Amino acid sequence: MGLTIGALVTEHIAVSLIESHQIVGSVHKFPEAGSVSDALEGMPAEEIVQRIAQEVELAVQGQSVQAIGVGFPGISRNGLIEESPNLKQTKGLNLNEALTALLNQKGISAPVHVLNDAAALAAGVAATRGELDRLVRVWFLGVGIGLGRYPQSDSIAEGGHFVVTLDPKENLCGCGGIGHLEGMMGHRAMRLRFLDLEPEEVFQEADAGDQRCSDFVKLWHRALAAATATNIHMDGPGRFYISGPNAKFVQMGLLDRYVQDMVKMSPLQGSTFEAVPTSDETALIGAAVSSEHAVR
Ligand SMILES: [Zn+2]
Repeated sequence: MGLTIGALVTEHIAVSLIESHQIVGSVHKFPEAGSVSDALEGMPAEEIVQRIAQEVELAVQGQSVQAIGVGFPGISRNGLIEESPNLKQTKGLNLNEALTALLNQKGISAPVHVLNDAAALAAGVAATRGELDRLVRVWFLGVGIGLGRYPQSDSIAEGGHFVVTLDPKENLCGCGGIGHLEGMMGHRAMRLRFLDLEPEEVFQEADAGDQRCSDFVKLWHRALAAATATNIHMDGPGRFYISGPNAKFVQMGLLDRYVQDMVKMSPLQGSTFEAVPTSDETALIGAAVSSEHAVR
């Protein structure tokens, strides 16, 4: 296939032209680097679509593209955003229809394929590591928590909302659910838990021996281990990549040990963890690759 477009919507918008699993030219971003990072949080859904369309137009630069893949947070079906806990205003938005209509006005008629942002990341990891023939799972640790799977399955993949504790006081998840992984591990949830410390400081204080912070860091790892173990019991063992801005806090050895404690049936053992650098580029490539597959 020739040129495709990869787009990613997280706390910002990134769009790029893709050819043969590689970025062509520059990555177009809104807001541009250095601007407020949560610019999309309060933005009306229609305006988000307009911004995506503008960035796609900039990236296309009058060339002919075959497909447009858009990684978008939350649950979507055929391009309809059914729920997006961290971009709540987009619930009910038919992103596929709205974006297709705007792009048609700009003379861009390629089919639009919307998928979960973490699924785009998993497809990107698979494509850039030559693992498109394998099962690839990626945890994304950011404001929210995502679990991306490649190949994309038809099931709803909201691994960030796995229940990892029965403690009714664990109520900090962005979706409102009790006991969720994101309510313990998500960046926003950590800020709500430690009103006096930023998440970075919590991990620093834990290193320095502070009991409260160090207990939390253990809990943080156990939560990720529990969610991973749940996924292993449903989907089998394998390689889990860890990505996102807060991947830097993960102690792989500790995570590995906790997972071994939680997965004891021998056919399910042997999963491994590997950190992958966070970059929009990987998810953009994944969104584009997924749109190619969807067009075929
Ligand atoms: Zn949740």
